[in-house]
Amino acid sequence: ESRAAARTVLDALAAVVRTVDEHADELGRIDAVAGDGDHGIGMRRGSEAAYEAGRRAQGLGAGAGTLLCHAADAWADRAGGTSGALWGVILRQVGTALGDADRPDAAAVASGVAAAADGVMRLGKAEVGDKTMVDVLVPLAGALGEAVAEGQPLAAAWDAAATVAEAAAKATAELLPRLGRARPHAEKSLGTPDAGAVSLALIARAVHGVLAA
Ligand code: ADP
Ligand code: MG
Ligand code: MG
Repeated sequence: ESRAAARTVLDALAAVVRTVDEHADELGRIDAVAGDGDHGIGMRRGSEAAYEAGRRAQGLGAGAGTLLCHAADAWADRAGGTSGALWGVILRQVGTALGDADRPDAAAVASGVAAAADGVMRLGKAEVGDKTMVDVLVPLAGALGEAVAEGQPLAAAWDAAATVAEAAAKATAELLPRLGRARPHAEKSLGTPDAGAVSLALIARAVHGVLAA
């Protein structure tokens, strides 16, 4: 049972690598509007390192939670940048909530995503409205939690949450950044969404593809 969960998690990490790779240039361009333009590069480095670490952990028989914790450390170590540290927090929180012992249920996944949102806000000190990935992570966690509480199966709940995430990422175009590297060029970013918000929504959609398969 725990091995099936580990395989799903590894498939999800592979899907993250693919979507980041496909959109890396676009993410760099978005980050360059008001930031330093390295978001595509950083996400590529981080996701590839996370996948490789996850594969090594799976080869040693790790369960889903342990696999994700190894992937989390690799992402944070190798990505560099603010988003790398924050993606490390996301993977670690989800891994901790899933654990290794049993087949994780939808409620465990939802509570992991909620813990990820809390952890990112604790480390990065951004709140909703600051034009960061938090503007996607918080509504994603909320929508997932609601859909799971209504009794929807994980894939359907995740689909609903990914749709909310996509709309939330688009909506960051109308926000002014108050934190991070984008802060000194705040006005330039009006009309452009936040890079980390866009990448998070892309990843949410890619993970749905794995959960629905
Ligand atoms: P860096 O800003 O160090 O160059 P990246 O370009 O990889 O790192 O990531 C930038 C993204 O990180 C931003 O678009 C934003 O979504 C996110 N981000 C930056 N600072 C914070 C923060 N304090 N809290 C949450 N997210 C943040
Ligand atoms: Mg950057
Ligand atoms: Mg940078």
